Amino acid sequence: MKVTDHITRADGRTLFSFEVLPPKKGENIQTLFSNIEPLMEFKPPFIDVTYHREEYVYRQHPNGLLEKKTVRRRPGTVGICAAIKNRFDVDTVPHLICGGFTKEETENALIDLHFLGIDNVLALRGDPIKSEGRFQPEPDGHSYACDLIGQVADLNKGAYLDEEQDDTWATDFCIGTAGYPEKHFESPSHATDLRYLKHKVDRGAEYIVTQMFFDNEQFFSFERRCREAGITVPIIPGLKPITTKAQLTALPRAFYLNLPDELVDAVHLAPDNAAAREVGIEWCINQSKELMAHGVPVLHYYSMGKSESIRRVAAALF
Ligand code: FAD
Repeated sequence: MKVTDHITRADGRTLFSFEVLPPKKGENIQTLFSNIEPLMEFKPPFIDVTYHREEYVYRQHPNGLLEKKTVRRRPGTVGICAAIKNRFDVDTVPHLICGGFTKEETENALIDLHFLGIDNVLALRGDPIKSEGRFQPEPDGHSYACDLIGQVADLNKGAYLDEEQDDTWATDFCIGTAGYPEKHFESPSHATDLRYLKHKVDRGAEYIVTQMFFDNEQFFSFERRCREAGITVPIIPGLKPITTKAQLTALPRAFYLNLPDELVDAVHLAPDNAAAREVGIEWCINQSKELMAHGVPVLHYYSMGKSESIRRVAAALF
């Protein structure tokens, strides 16, 4: 079922969902299942599975020459979505990115997802890989998420890349897109970022999931600006409980976000990581309660490979 249908059916009740990472190469899917299992009691209508593109490594040969090699550390988003769907009878939302994909490869991935009965995709551009300074699309790939959204929307009309449009081949994906309460880091201003977000919705995105934030005022202001700009689709806040002291610097570095002073001070004062985790969980519960009272359709939690803190947050709410 589509994410938007789950929201409609909930009839104003806030739903609980979360995002998982594919296990690292060599790990067993059972590890992932064990992480998901404790969260199933909160009846998530859908679970997102992230996509991790390849990185380049350089291998030195005995003659001194360097060979550029491609490595993927977390492969298998499509297969993992199918496995989770079958194991838990829950809808899954694969993340689909522009980076590393030609349009043809994207089409093939979408055909596979359609065969597997997966009804949703979260369409993203992806970040630059470490060896690139800025995002580089494939020669025949998409530069921005809006173009990827356009390709999925075309497929929903039966318009494949190299064939005559045919309704009988139409897919019916519900397309999600990313939004940034604190602005995407490459955007020169909030207004520019919002204009591009509106464009993504106009091209076919049916709901927005936000980057994580730790100050609800950031979300409320973002939502207000979206509505003023004529964006009417559901906006789902993305949340994450802080679980270690190191995340005070790691999260802003990785996700270009700000942490409120009150939270930073409380985590700093915590004597160890176990105490910092308690601070992070309590902060996240309070954030979640306020967002629920505000009437958000879904609370979406970033697990980043670990579910215990999210289970504690969900247990306090659902
Ligand atoms: P876009 O919407 O394409 O925007 C990228 C930048 O370009 C922005 O600054 C925007 O303002 C600007 N822009 C947009 N459209 C245009 C245009 N037409 N012309 C000029 N400028 C434009 N990354 C992964 O690799 N895998 C994942 O699984 C993943 N999951 C994510 C889930 C969520 C909920 C979020 C919020 C992010 C996720 N990311 C993931 C990270 C995301 O890929 C990066 O933040 C990336 O840098 C931007 O992706 P986007 O889809 O927002 O890009």
